[in-house]
Amino acid sequence: MKIILLGPPGAGKGTQAKFISEEYSIPHISTGDIFRKNISDKTPLGIEAKEYLDKGQLVPDEVTINIVKDRLSEDDCESGFLLDGFPRTVYQAEALDSFLNANDNKIDMVLLIDVPRELIFDRMTGRRICPSCGASYHVKFNPPKLKDKCDICNNDIIQRKDDTESTVKDRLDVYEKQTEPLINYYKEQGVISAIEGSGEINQVFQRAKNALGAICK
Ligand code: ADP
Ligand code: ADP
Ligand code: ZN
Repeated sequence: MKIILLGPPGAGKGTQAKFISEEYSIPHISTGDIFRKNISDKTPLGIEAKEYLDKGQLVPDEVTINIVKDRLSEDDCESGFLLDGFPRTVYQAEALDSFLNANDNKIDMVLLIDVPRELIFDRMTGRRICPSCGASYHVKFNPPKLKDKCDICNNDIIQRKDDTESTVKDRLDVYEKQTEPLINYYKEQGVISAIEGSGEINQVFQRAKNALGAICK
């Protein structure tokens, strides 16, 4: 299965991606996680990407597209993948389509997680992440079992630098201007399926499975 998760920052894409990738045994590819890993390793890509992430702006399309193409060319993506946070512009979506086309492939489903705007600020300012495995927690809504430790790898969890109120505002603007047009782009292809992202994490996962059931046997 080749799936894209779409939705505003804070919709719960990363949280659901962990469950979906396990349920369907497909790799979870988060461009945000890839950038953050490169930033912490201080690679040339990380140094370039950092200024964009800090401001809540998008890393340039060409840079991002090349990273995703490389990742999708790895063996574990042969039978499917789950893209989280990519594409974020129509240009990226077109590049992805032509890359997949060239390999006689296509996206099976774009799962749109819809969430009321008023939930987003609380979700994002309370978010904590594991810098090692990318797992996403929330101080109130989804705390780790041990205080400030990742359930999966026991690392210290941290607050993202771009999860402050003012950067969140900028990221929502970026989403509305640059990413939301993708909804129509994929509607025209007839591959979009929308689920409600409010409610318990588990409840959202049930909705995701119901939607994905339409494309997997
Ligand atoms: P995204 O990847 O779309 O930016 P995340 O999965 O990181 O979103 O979720 C954003 C924040 O909201 C995290 O702190 C996460 O723990 C929390 N969260 C995710 N899903 C829910 C939910 N259904 N209810 C409450 N909080 C949630
Ligand atoms: P969120 O969980 O809030 O949706 P991500 O972790 O997906 O955030 O992305 C964090 C940041 O990484 C973005 O604000 C942007 O700077 C950069 N980024 C991630 N994916 C892309 C992409 N597809 N194109 C450009 N920039 C990206
Ligand atoms: Zn972890």
